[in-house]
Amino acid sequence: NMKLDELKLEVDYFKFEDSLYQKLQATPLKNPKLVSFNPKACDLINLDYDECKTEDFTNFLNGTKVLNGSVPYSMVYAGHQFGYFVPQLGDGRAINLGSINGWHLQTKGSGLTKYSRQGDGRAVLRSSIREYIMSEAMHALGIPTTRALAIIDSDSFAHREWEQESCAIVLRISSSWVRIGTFEYFARTKNAVENLSKLADYVIEQSYPHLKNEESKYEKMFYEMADRSAELLALWQVYGFQHGVMNTDNFSMAGLTIDYGPFAFMDYFEKNSICNHTDMEGRYAYNNQPYVARWNLFVLINALKKICDIEKLENHMRSYIVKHKKYYFELMSKRVGLEASKDKDANLHLILELLGALEASKMDYNVFFYRLTNLKSFDDLSSILDIAVFQEPLKKWFESYKKVCNEQNSSFEERFEIMKKVNPKYVIKNYMLQEAIENAHEGDYSMVDDLLQIAQNPFDAHPNFERFANPTPMKYANIKLSCSS
Ligand code: AMP
Ligand code: MG
Repeated sequence: NMKLDELKLEVDYFKFEDSLYQKLQATPLKNPKLVSFNPKACDLINLDYDECKTEDFTNFLNGTKVLNGSVPYSMVYAGHQFGYFVPQLGDGRAINLGSINGWHLQTKGSGLTKYSRQGDGRAVLRSSIREYIMSEAMHALGIPTTRALAIIDSDSFAHREWEQESCAIVLRISSSWVRIGTFEYFARTKNAVENLSKLADYVIEQSYPHLKNEESKYEKMFYEMADRSAELLALWQVYGFQHGVMNTDNFSMAGLTIDYGPFAFMDYFEKNSICNHTDMEGRYAYNNQPYVARWNLFVLINALKKICDIEKLENHMRSYIVKHKKYYFELMSKRVGLEASKDKDANLHLILELLGALEASKMDYNVFFYRLTNLKSFDDLSSILDIAVFQEPLKKWFESYKKVCNEQNSSFEERFEIMKKVNPKYVIKNYMLQEAIENAHEGDYSMVDDLLQIAQNPFDAHPNFERFANPTPMKYANIKLSCSS
């Protein structure tokens, strides 16, 4: 692995018209200090772990040390926010540094850019810790996502809602930072056809390289991106992940979870759950997410109309929900230990019934599946029923479950083998993050590393954090979060 000074960054964005980005320098934070670094992400860019403990590394995140080959820039994009078109957004507080091994480095919270609008260009420690831990937790569950390499805190402060909060910077890395909103912006430029084609070629190069020499490559890029999104949304739904702000500017062209804000892994199951407290109408409610993704994909179709045969794209979307549901039910079958291929109808009914029972019993969603994995007999359901607020709906569901298991000749051992791979002991919930954040505000960052360990190894035992494998205490469960970050 390499020293910081041996890393060589490549910048590939300046082939676009210069009105589509801004070259700039970061505005440094006061007294930057390392909170945590992520060895797994260091491996991705071949960075020596010891380098992360140096002052140089902290300065690198803070923008005062620029790596070889790096030319910092911010990108412009547009987007539909809560359904309304905003013609110009952009990296309002993120600065791109260039790429290594196909990983594009970006610092979030690096100060004002041309695209900051009314914002201050900063990210507070609270939301930076949330993104840092959560993106690694998602990755460990096999959910496509941007990653995070390190985080610094500082003695600079930003005003959020009622308080001054300390400013932080997360170094995020991703195979791509292009969003649907990037296409929306490019579609409205003077040389739209040329700009859109270049952008589509760029996305293909980054995320769909096998399409490079294909005929109708832009249409095919859309098909694959839509299919990835259908699968991504299935994974979110399967694990009870709520993004919170699925605006088109927060929707990745590479099929990744991107731009972590007021997200949540839901605590107890609630299909209409809304985690973003500014989302009054529930546009981004849990059960709405797959349909919002479809809506976003239609916005993309509209942005692509100058370079694609729109009718083909629209036709492709006819099967979007079917694909999404198929993948969702396959994964959910596994979460209850059944083979997706066996009796599809029976599994489907069982899962729909389970969702109703979980909601009616006010059961902690992911803890349910972990306890189900370790269930040894239908005669003793206490490990599950004891943590339900209401037991009857689940008791009834277990009768159906037992019947389906018998019909499919499925044993506890067989189901355990299936479930242990998909039902983690730990899912990072907001109350856990809150605890790490409160400690960090007191100057103790150790729990950020602890949570990183749990996030990256969710199927393992973490003896010091046994309590986090239990249901979320009710007073902290399904709380709405603020968008201000
Ligand atoms: P979000 O919904 O958080 O992804 O933000 C929407 C837009 O606002 C993006 O273009 C962000 O870059 C920008 N933005 C969010 N917070 C800030 C901030 N504190 N300062 C500047 N721009 C911001
Ligand atoms: Mg965003």
